[in-house]
Amino acid sequence: MVTPTRFFNLFFLIMLFSFPQSEINAQMMVQSQSSSVFTLPELGYEFSALEPYIDTETMKIHYSKHHKAYVDKLNTSLENHKLKGKSLETILEMVMENDEDMSVLNNAGGHYNHNMFWKILTPGGGTQPSGSLEDAIIKKFGSFDEFSTKFVKAATGVFGSGWAWLSVDKNNELFISTTKNQDNPLMKNVVKMTGTPILCIDVWEHAYYLKYQNKRADYIANFKQAINWDVVSKNYESIK
Ligand code: MN
Repeated sequence: MVTPTRFFNLFFLIMLFSFPQSEINAQMMVQSQSSSVFTLPELGYEFSALEPYIDTETMKIHYSKHHKAYVDKLNTSLENHKLKGKSLETILEMVMENDEDMSVLNNAGGHYNHNMFWKILTPGGGTQPSGSLEDAIIKKFGSFDEFSTKFVKAATGVFGSGWAWLSVDKNNELFISTTKNQDNPLMKNVVKMTGTPILCIDVWEHAYYLKYQNKRADYIANFKQAINWDVVSKNYESIK
């Protein structure tokens, strides 16, 4: 006779063997690694949202191929690494430019840099810096136009692949700098000018080549039209 208890046991056994063991293991691994696994953030707008400044196809490939690859490789490179389990910011502060750290350095940088890049862009056109950031820009550079000229010059002058940054140093002073590859100003053991970034521009060819080919200056001029200065101002406020 099939009692309710025996029926339940049978049902449980059928359910257990209905799931492939590999799937169960994979779920358990995700749970046990959840504190150290980095994920691709939500973009927050459509791939087409930054047209005509940044084209849809470039956004699609840049976000879902390039940024995703940095996230995946970061997770892989941390598997047996001493920095596993640390926050992204701590990893960037501690990472060294040596063979042991190089994959973590490149991919942690790639993840952090692109996180900021998507956030400081806005659909529907850019605004102007406001509040205390506007004051700080005028104090440091003389005027917004003068800052803009210097930032464009820095971004245009990056040799090969890299980034240009507006950051805040330990004395709360703004500064413009450039970095190679996926380096950034948080990497104390790697770059000369260190601080907390509030604005960045990606000048790797993958950020502009489909639309602009070799015309990096045109890409930079159009990128400026898509900066979300409200977010940059908030980044600045959050540091002070
Ligand atoms: Mn990029």
